[in-house]
Order: sequence, then structure tokens, then C-alpha cells
Amino acid sequence: MSILGNFINGQAVASQNGRTAPVYNPATGEQRLQVALSSAQETQEAVRVADEAFATWSKMSPLKRSRILFKFKALVEEHTDELARLISREHGKVFSDAKGEVTRGLEVVEFACGIPHLQKGEHSMNVGTGVDSYSMMQPLGVCAGISPFNFPAMVPMWMFPIALACGNTFVMKPSEKDPSTPMRLAELLKEAGLPDGVFNVVNGDKESVDVLLTDERVQAVSFVGSTPIAEYIYATASKHGKRVQALGGAKNHMVIMPDADLDQAVSALMGAAYGSAGERCMAISVAVPVGEETAQKLREKLEAELANLRVGPGLVDGPDNDMGPLVTRDHLEKVKGYIQAGVDEGAELVVDGRKTAVDGAGDGFFIGGTLFDHVKPGMRIHSEEIFGPVLAITRAASFDEAVSMVNAHEYGNGTAIFTRDGDAARQYCEQIQVGMVGVNVPIPVPMAFHSFGGWKRSLFGPLHMHGPDGVRFYTRMKTITQRWPSGIREETNHFTMPTL
Ligand code: NAD
Repeated sequence: MSILGNFINGQAVASQNGRTAPVYNPATGEQRLQVALSSAQETQEAVRVADEAFATWSKMSPLKRSRILFKFKALVEEHTDELARLISREHGKVFSDAKGEVTRGLEVVEFACGIPHLQKGEHSMNVGTGVDSYSMMQPLGVCAGISPFNFPAMVPMWMFPIALACGNTFVMKPSEKDPSTPMRLAELLKEAGLPDGVFNVVNGDKESVDVLLTDERVQAVSFVGSTPIAEYIYATASKHGKRVQALGGAKNHMVIMPDADLDQAVSALMGAAYGSAGERCMAISVAVPVGEETAQKLREKLEAELANLRVGPGLVDGPDNDMGPLVTRDHLEKVKGYIQAGVDEGAELVVDGRKTAVDGAGDGFFIGGTLFDHVKPGMRIHSEEIFGPVLAITRAASFDEAVSMVNAHEYGNGTAIFTRDGDAARQYCEQIQVGMVGVNVPIPVPMAFHSFGGWKRSLFGPLHMHGPDGVRFYTRMKTITQRWPSGIREETNHFTMPTL
């Protein structure tokens, strides 16, 4: 079985470490390949190469850097289907969803192509007599990215296009569960003309990550993954003097007001809760209907829709399924365990995805869409992130109770309110303690030219991903105050050839 190694200094390099992890096709349950778990020394080598490449890359004209990214954009567009198939084969998500992921990543590349405009700095004349002041936004040096399994193309593309466009070099440590896509992106960057050593991929686990958090040549760390690891990354890398943005887990609530268009809300909820098998950090995992009548109607409509949810492989001939398998067998068992915990804690299991029959499931890691009602704060299926196709209905008697419930949760990544009332929506946006809010929009992911990030234990660090915060994160500001008191303009003979 082939072993996926690293991409260092512009070429694929086999790892000599001897440790590997299996990579599965979740739709069949078969192992596709092995991925190398690189040693600390191999990771240090990638950092060394990136550090060396910084000297020239950081001095290249921003326009030239942008042109390489323009070529990369064209190549990703050309290879979108190929990348989407690769994503589906290792992650399991359906082809159309995988293509959507590539497109959302591509939008960050498009944003990064215009970074020369955002990196101009500021200028003020005559801040004192004959004194001007201006700022430069300089690149940092070697930046590191550590990404989760659920978006193997998009999350790395939240990070490296902006870092590179600003003049940094990069070492990427992808998820070991679906590592092939970032390796392919590295090849496309090279094909686009990126100089060797500017972008490197190291496959691995904690051994590699710990080098990226502690090596003094690494200046900044971007992380996306679960909250316990995000907290560890933030604490360790900060202690070693690096700037860090560490995005963590989520439990996103959608509040449905009594005046909402329920058909619209249910259609939005189906996609937001069960799309990508619930393995999205912006998935809605808790529906909060306000009032008993809203709750009853919502539950009936969701139950009816769930009967039609098409679960199956991500890659099929003909129309896509709605939802594919989970990423690994371990994760499938974990999600099943949460369903049992919900039953044991007294929530009402309305639809049990463990019983869903999936055509052609074989040994794939499939589970159907699951719906709980009468879930209460304090139950594990409300307090913990399941990261699977499990939606909990948590009923609220009033708008205020719904807001308090969302605000009391430890996570604050995304949320949505469905209503026709502008005042309720406005109050919600103002009061809610969550980083990204949708009004009649179920998954309010900010576009590439805005910044993405949660509040509370969904983000450690002050700056969000991509958009203006991304540019701030990957640059360091220097302010120059200058005065030229030579009086040269009065010396009329200055431009004649010196004769003394
Ligand atoms: P994870 O935390 O298990 O892994 C993320 C990365 O950290 C991987 O590259 C992994 O190799 C590395 N890692 C794992 N354990 C480590 C350790 N002990 N020390 C150092 N590095 C370690 O997350 P995952 O299961 O791959 O992804 C799912 C999680 O990511 C969910 O919690 C989801 O909410 C979160 N996520 C958050 C966002 C966001 O924007 N907030 C986006 C996508 C995913």
C-alpha cells in the first residue's frame, strides 16, 4: 500500500520516520493508503526550507506574488472536479458539496490576489513641522497551518493564500484522516510558478505539530480543529512567542420564532443539520423553536423530511445523495454513542439514524439523519459537539429564554434566527454572544473578504480567519516617523560635479 509522504522544497519527499496512519475511503470502509507521520527532524527540515525561502519571497514585488496566485486560481478552477473527487474519496462528503468546498476556498485565493491593495499601509504628512509618518505592513516569516479533517481543501485555503500573498512562507500540517488534497494543492502551487520552499506540506501528528508550536523560526500559527486541541495550540504557541489564531469546536443553535415561514426554516434546517453528515463547524445541531405550537409543527415537518433524506456514497452516477458517510469508523461509533447517551438522559428519540438502511452501504461508515426532541440544556447531546447528523430540538417558551440558552453555551461559533419580524432579528443580532449570526440564513459563513471566527471557546486569539483580519494576522506593522532637515534645497550648487 502506498505511503503518502511530504512536500518539501518543491518536491514530494518520502518520510523516513517509519510511523504511518491509515487513510480510508469512508464510503466503502476500505483503506486507500497510508499517510506518513513525520518525525520532529523532518518537520524542522520543512521549517528550515521555508525560513530560507523567506529571504527572497518576502522581497518579491507584491504584484508578482499576486500573479502566481492568479495562475493558481486558474489551475484550481481547471482541476475542481478532480479535487472534489479526491475530497469525497477520503472525507466521504457528496461530490456537489465537495465542489462547493473548493469554490469557497477559491474565493479566498481571489481575495488574496488583491492583497497589494490591502498591504499599502498608512501615510500622514506634517505630523510635526517637516515631519511625515507612514506605516508598512511587513510579512512575518515562516507561518504554520494545522487543519481539521472536515474541510481538507477550504480550511488550508483560508490560511496559505493570504499568508503567501503578504510575503510569508508556509508549512502546512493537514489532517491525517484526509491528507491527499493539500498535497495536490501544493503541486498546483508549484505548477503556478511558486518558488520551491515557499509552501511545504508536512504530514504528521502531535510530533510534527509540537515542532511548529515551539520552533523559534515559526512566527505565526493558524489552527482549525476541536476545542481541546485549539486551546493546547494557543497556550503552547503563545508561550513560545508566536501569534496564534486557533479556531475550535461549535454547537450552533437556530432559533425559530412563531412568525417564521416554517417551510423555509425546515428546508434550511435540513441542509444545515444534515449536509456533509453534520461534519461542519457551522452545522446547526440545535433547533430552538419558540412556543409549543412552533415546536410541534417544526418537529412534524422535520420528521417528514427526514423520511426522504437520501443517504449514500459521495460519488455516484446520476444525482448526488443528500448526505454521505462519516469520516472514520471510530467517529461513527462516537456519534452512535452520543445517540445512546441522549436516550439514556431522557431525550425523546424521534428518528434514529442508527436504523437507517443505506443502499450499497457495504462496510462504509454510514448513519442516517437523527432527530431528538425535548433535549434540555445540561444533557450531553446539548452541551457537547457531536459532529454528526444529529439534530436536537430544545424548546424555548420565549425569545428571551432562547437568547439565554444560546448565550449560556460554552461555544459561540455560529447561530441563526428565522423570523419575519425585524425587531426580533435586530435584538437577536445585538444580544447574542456568537461570532457569526444569520438572519433567515442558516449557515452564515462570511465571504472571503469578511473574516470568519467564533466567540467564547470557539476561537482562541484576537484575530479571525481571512478577510481584513487575515491580512492583519499575517503582517506586522511598522510605523516610520521621518524628518529630512538637511536644507538641501537651499544649496544651489549641490547638483554640480564636486571638485574638491
Ligand atoms: P482535531 O482537533 O482532532 O484535529 C485538528 C488538527 O489537529 C489535525 O491536523 C490533527 O492532526 C491535529 N491534532 C490532533 N490532536 C493533536 C494533539 N494532541 N496535538 C497536536 N495536534 C493535534 O479536529 P478534527 O476532528 O480533525 O476536526 C473536527 C473539529 O474541527 C470539530 O471540533 C470542528 O468543530 C472543528 N472545526 C472548527 C472550525 C471553525 O472554524 N471553528 C472549522 C472546521 C472544523
